[in-house]
Amino acid sequence: RNQGILKATNFVQELLKNKIPTGGTVIDGTMGNGNDTLFLYKQVGDSGKVYAFDLQVMALENTRRIFRENNVFIDNKPIQLILDGHENIGNYVKEAIDGAMFNLGYLPSGDKNIVTRPETTLQAIKSTLELLKKGGMMSLVLYYGHPGGIEEKNSILDYVGQLESKKYLVMECSYINHENNPPIILLIEKK
Ligand code: SAM
Repeated sequence: RNQGILKATNFVQELLKNKIPTGGTVIDGTMGNGNDTLFLYKQVGDSGKVYAFDLQVMALENTRRIFRENNVFIDNKPIQLILDGHENIGNYVKEAIDGAMFNLGYLPSGDKNIVTRPETTLQAIKSTLELLKKGGMMSLVLYYGHPGGIEEKNSILDYVGQLESKKYLVMECSYINHENNPPIILLIEKK
């Protein structure tokens, strides 16, 4: 048997696994506790490059910790933890990328007032799509239960729903019988 319906964060990791090669270049747009940053590093390995962004010092600390717990000593590795908003991706990433992950909303263990916002998220999506190689994929997991979350969700769905179909394949997945604003998963593949 395969694993069946996975929770959103595992679901996107399963899909991206086939898309991100050893030696690839990737972005984690919302580092948070570092789970996806670690996943991405495991995919690309020491010959790859991981850029991870977050606004909060706590996210960088938590990410450093999770790497330590996994016996990866980040300072010697091609992993750049960047204390800046993902809207500024273009200032840091100058090379084409194989994949990117964004988990929107707030840091589960942190300050619930620090949330992703529509304008900055849209800017980040635009920059990421420009950097994405043909055949590359980006994922977005939208948690929108917080104030402002529904506006963010709607503006993202609106934007990605209008991406040129000749250039991008866009898929939305959702847990339609769940209560309490279950996450929405978006996958965008560059053709
Ligand atoms: N993927 C993370 C993990 O595996 O733990 C969880 C990410 S959490 C749902 C969302 C994160 O986005 C928070 O840590 C928050 O600080 C961060 N964030 C909010 N606005 C941001 C921005 N403009 N740029 C980068 N990160 C941002």
